[in-house]
Amino acid sequence: MLAPIVIVGGGFGGLYTALELAKRPNHPPLLLIEPNGRFIFLPFLYELLSGELAQWQLAPRYDNLLAGHGIGWLKDRVSQINPETSKLYTAGGKEISYSRVVIATGSTPFGFGVPGVQAHTQGFHSLSDVERLQALIKQLKNQPQPLQKIAVVGAGPCGVELACKLADLLQGAAVVELLEKGPQCLPNAKAFNRNQALQALQRRDVRLRCHCQVL
Ligand SMILES: Cc1cc2nc3c(=O)[nH]c(=O)nc-3n(C[C@H](O)[C@H](O)[C@H](O)COP(=O)(O)OP(=O)(O)OC[C@H]3O[C@@H](n4cnc5c(N)ncnc54)[C@H](O)[C@@H]3O)c2cc1C
Repeated sequence: MLAPIVIVGGGFGGLYTALELAKRPNHPPLLLIEPNGRFIFLPFLYELLSGELAQWQLAPRYDNLLAGHGIGWLKDRVSQINPETSKLYTAGGKEISYSRVVIATGSTPFGFGVPGVQAHTQGFHSLSDVERLQALIKQLKNQPQPLQKIAVVGAGPCGVELACKLADLLQGAAVVELLEKGPQCLPNAKAFNRNQALQALQRRDVRLRCHCQVL
């Protein structure tokens, strides 16, 4: 039997590669290898934070997503690939031959070498990040202290949207500061979009601090 095309990583890149390949007539067997049980639709993570969407709506299970598409799914993590033998190895101890391999393992949050990032900051990239932020919001609202502040570092699209969402959820229980090392928020956006973002930040009293680099 023909060895499968193996797609490593089930984020947007890997999942949609697998689904597109599955539409081709006479395609070889397809195998997606992804260690998590659920695909996360990351652009909706803010709505999960606020409770506007439930986990099942933005994080469907891979077995449901792939059902009926003729794509196998192995819940595992690839640990090694040998292109000379066309074999890969997984953390779960499997050895798998492939005809082609697609690497779609995405990226992981990076602290840019700033001391203390790992130990003292909170990311916004996963379901567990959302749970931790929800707990922090609850704590800030339930035990109000004078001059409570929460800082969002980076005023790109994610930073601006998260700062607005936090301000909505905190309802004045803490000041939200948005720190940006450059001269303005959304540095790569069109002027119209930047103005809209500035208005949204102002409406919520989010303090945007430009030329403010975290060292
Ligand atoms: C809060 C938030 C909002 C966003 N909003 C937008 C938006 O509105 N518009 C937009 O265009 N982009 C947005 N993005 C960015 C977008 O989500 C990413 O660009 C996209 O997820 C990248 O897809 P990817 O498949 O390359 O990687 P990822 O989504 O990171 O997926 C990689 C996958 O590979 C798996 N993996 C890693 N290592 C291995 C291994 N060794 N073996 C097997 N599997 C492995 C991981 O578990 C993961 O599931 C947002 C991101 C965030 C965090």
